[in-house]
Amino acid sequence: MIIVKDLHKKFENNHVLRGVNYHVHQGEKVVVIGPSGSGKSTFLRCMNLLETPTSGEIWVDGVNITDTKTDIDKVRQHLGMVFQNFNLFDNLTIMNNITLSPIKLRLMSKEEASENALKLLERVGLTEKADAYPSQLSGGQKQRVAIVRSLAMNPRVMLFDEPTSALDPEMVGEVLDVMKGLADSGMTMVVVTHEMGFAREVGTKVLFMDEGVIMEENTPQEFFNHPKSPRLQEFLSKVL
Ligand code: ADP
Ligand code: MG
Repeated sequence: MIIVKDLHKKFENNHVLRGVNYHVHQGEKVVVIGPSGSGKSTFLRCMNLLETPTSGEIWVDGVNITDTKTDIDKVRQHLGMVFQNFNLFDNLTIMNNITLSPIKLRLMSKEEASENALKLLERVGLTEKADAYPSQLSGGQKQRVAIVRSLAMNPRVMLFDEPTSALDPEMVGEVLDVMKGLADSGMTMVVVTHEMGFAREVGTKVLFMDEGVIMEENTPQEFFNHPKSPRLQEFLSKVL
């Protein structure tokens, strides 16, 4: 589904990604953990070209998205992304937040998009918020809407960048539950998170990113019970 080949990213003299290689297969839930500043967000953002790689290749579903001839808007339609800070449009209702892109890109009629949005809102228990504005929602509710908004585009892959890091603790669970439901439905997911319980329970693979490379990769069981590199051992001793 996603192939990353020798990906490098520099910001001026800051060599942030230093040769990342990885394959995400269909249906996998890849969880990425690692210290702050190790390049996790940059890695995710390169996957849908929110950042332009300095060198290397990224293939999504058989398309080389790093080829300048590729229509990136088309690629992005199939890659949902959820951010730490929700990124909802504050001046639009929840309904209009969800239907904006499908209507604008002419993927659906207004009626179809609205019907689909209501189904999605029902799935995350927020039907009654369709006509509310983001400011009237809690952080957890906003993040559930942000997930639903991505799903409205029928993505083949969902990318999550610390989706629960900005939430009050009591709201983390409701967002993780939605993500678990999505995982169970077969969605291919790449999730940057500090939620180790989620990594263990939902991850099919866990990656440790450190200083711009994937330093270690394993099944959750092996990753947490038998970390190999001293850096990962040290990291886990701090977060577990
Ligand atoms: P992480 O998500 O693991 O905390 P990031 O990918 O956000 O790490 O950042 C890795 C490094 O890249 C940091 O040194 C950060 O300052 C730098 N960086 C990230 N985005 C930009 C940007 N848009 N411009 C300049 N430097 C950036
Ligand atoms: Mg980050």
